Amino acid sequence: MQKPVTFLVVFFCFQLSLMAQTIASPSDFLGYEIGTQFSRNHQVIEYFKTIEKQVPNQLKLETYGKTNERRSLYLAYISSEENIKKLETIRENNLKNIGLLDGESSADDIAIVWLSYNVHGNEASSSEASMLTLFKLLTEKQEWLKNTVVIIDPSMNPDGRDRYINWYNETASQPYNIDRQASEHNEPWPGGRPNHYLFDLNRDWVWASQVETQQRLEVYNKWMPHVHVDFHEQGINEPYYFAPAAEPFHEVITDWQRDFQTEIGKNHAKYFDAKGWLFFTRERFDLFYPSYGDTYPTFMGAMGMTYEQGGHGMAGLGILNDEGHVLTLIERLTHHTTTGLSTVEIASKNAKKLNTEFAKFFDNSNLKYKSYVLKGNEDKLNSLKALLNKHSITFENATTSKVSGISYATGKQGSLNINSKALVVHANQPKGKMVKALFEPNAKLSDSLTYDITAWSLPYAYGLEAMASITKVPSETLLSKKALQALTDTYGYVSKWNSIEDAQFLAELLKYNFKVRFTEKPFTSNNKKFERGSLIITKGDNKHIKNFLETLNTIAQEQAQTLTEINSGFSQTTPDIGSPDIKLVNKQKVAVLSGEGTSSLSYGEVWHFFEQQLHYPITSINTADLGDINLDRYHVLILPNGNYRKVFTDDNMTKLKDWVRAGGKVIAIDGALRSFAGKDGFSLNYKTSKDSKDDEQKQNLTSYADREREYSNNLITGAIFKTKVDNTHPMAFGYDDHYFTLKLGSSAYSLLDSGYNVAYLDNIKVYSGFAGQNALKSLDQTLVFGEEPMGSGSFIYMVDNTLFRSFWENGKLFLVNSIFMVNNNAYEL
Ligand SMILES: [Zn+2]
Repeated sequence: MQKPVTFLVVFFCFQLSLMAQTIASPSDFLGYEIGTQFSRNHQVIEYFKTIEKQVPNQLKLETYGKTNERRSLYLAYISSEENIKKLETIRENNLKNIGLLDGESSADDIAIVWLSYNVHGNEASSSEASMLTLFKLLTEKQEWLKNTVVIIDPSMNPDGRDRYINWYNETASQPYNIDRQASEHNEPWPGGRPNHYLFDLNRDWVWASQVETQQRLEVYNKWMPHVHVDFHEQGINEPYYFAPAAEPFHEVITDWQRDFQTEIGKNHAKYFDAKGWLFFTRERFDLFYPSYGDTYPTFMGAMGMTYEQGGHGMAGLGILNDEGHVLTLIERLTHHTTTGLSTVEIASKNAKKLNTEFAKFFDNSNLKYKSYVLKGNEDKLNSLKALLNKHSITFENATTSKVSGISYATGKQGSLNINSKALVVHANQPKGKMVKALFEPNAKLSDSLTYDITAWSLPYAYGLEAMASITKVPSETLLSKKALQALTDTYGYVSKWNSIEDAQFLAELLKYNFKVRFTEKPFTSNNKKFERGSLIITKGDNKHIKNFLETLNTIAQEQAQTLTEINSGFSQTTPDIGSPDIKLVNKQKVAVLSGEGTSSLSYGEVWHFFEQQLHYPITSINTADLGDINLDRYHVLILPNGNYRKVFTDDNMTKLKDWVRAGGKVIAIDGALRSFAGKDGFSLNYKTSKDSKDDEQKQNLTSYADREREYSNNLITGAIFKTKVDNTHPMAFGYDDHYFTLKLGSSAYSLLDSGYNVAYLDNIKVYSGFAGQNALKSLDQTLVFGEEPMGSGSFIYMVDNTLFRSFWENGKLFLVNSIFMVNNNAYEL
């Protein structure tokens, strides 16, 4: 029997209102008005879980990984009941639409919007906004969900967020204090912005050195959203920034992406104007460096955007800014909620167009360079392949013996002989624009005033020979890897030394207490030539290792390390294995300074490198404790980039020098060199150009309006230079006689007159990126890496930070060499 229609209508209205009632608001759930307290990460997640229980047909929550501190990472899929049911079909259709999945797409009218919150842990209004946005979508904005899948990452960096919030809760007054000098507005080192290893996750999208990024990319590349928003906060005096972005825009960005950014911005402006809220667009936040939460999605075809609310780690629950306005957390999260919803609205209204334009972006048949060909060290090729896999970028092996095009080694037209091991990356593939952005020799810069580094070209970063070819290079699917042969019982085993994989192998051997030698001179044995730095493991040295051969074999297999067998200590060409030129590697005890004075980013890079890449123990020492600690317990002390003015008091400097004279090694990175330059007893000195006085004068006469641009003449914002390398010095073992360095600033140091200039700039030329004319003047004949011996020990200078954001793969061995091979004092502590 059919029920009367009126009854059905009443019944449905009742159901709808019941549903609205059963969705808890954030304030109801939290037990306080949202924005009057900071919600801890677990509360944010619990709210999403609660809503999932209340409307399971419209919200699907999944974990996509874990942080270093074991917090789970979540994504929430929010849409209409109908869409949630066919979520997998929608995802597959989207991939089919852009050629990432075979088959015909059955629909192209659903927009996919991905909203990412709180990548910087102390920009804490955004996770609060994620809760309110979810609530509003499900209660007031159902209409948009009919043709939109919203993916919310409520907390991308929960370790950082909780670091900030736990500190704030411990510190803040009640009620909150709006005086910015109050402790609640001044975060202690290192602050809540970065993740556990103190990496800036909003610089890590391409390099994917961090677990949060790696796990996120797996899902991101499975979904490939049409819109991606990264929610941030800026200084307390800047009101709000949203799209359209500022110049420079990277070349790969299409007209459609430019235009639609403006449309999105105008939609936000409508809401902000109605409330009288201030905002700005088209300034400061550009779209050039590919590793951000706005550029990465943009180069992957999406509308990638950054939204910046005034606030940041300084703002707390409320703060008085320079304009006499009390900026509150409630206000901050309200703005972020408004732009989040406005984004979903405009995506929903343009769902069809988003799909068709998105598909067009993935046609890459017209890119200038058709193929990038790379050859060189197999380990380096393999680590590049691993990076490409993280982005689902495909690659093959060459099937030709010669390729011509632009040579990365010279920056000019040339040719390169290759074999089937050479890697070929074609631009005409779905991810082709990202391929271009990552590989092309020199990205075109429409404006030198950018927010970040201007060079990152992968062949330089990985230390590979490469050509960019305007014709498609013949290639075929990659050869499978050969299995390693088991070692046989003989006199000894030799390993090459020219990659981080070799360094990891050494670290593993040292962990198992193997005695390992390295050679300071090339030698030949068993008809094979071994270069400087080669590792030698002999049976005779390792009688203390139980099951020596079996253990060595296991380690070599696990690390995929090829070893060459030698059957005698008598070499065909000297040195023999017992020679003083072949030394035992000392199991170095390494310490690093952390805390006030050090750059948290640089310290984090060292920490992460030792724990997660080299797998070698390191002791962190707080700068505040330097005066009290016993340095004699360590062989090596690393000083990350930083400002050590307050750290190196006269007493601490004397202590450091005495320790070095007695055999210690200091490795100073980037800004740490300022502690020694021009100081008594050091040969390290600043270099200034002869006409820097003239330049200064010229600047003083520059108009107010042009001052910023004129000043950029003094800057180097991440540019690539070629250095000369003394690869007979242990710090450069495993390197060629040249090395491409990423220069991050214009600091210039003269060549050492007492010490070793291991790598230096000679005949400077910018291979990629921006370098101001004035900055270049003082850079010729300056130090990049060097060693200054003092007593029995050494100061090792690294002007350029090879661990910067952990992506300059080819520079990392300089640091490892400095630890294990330079001034290798084989004494036991
Ligand atoms: Zn931020």
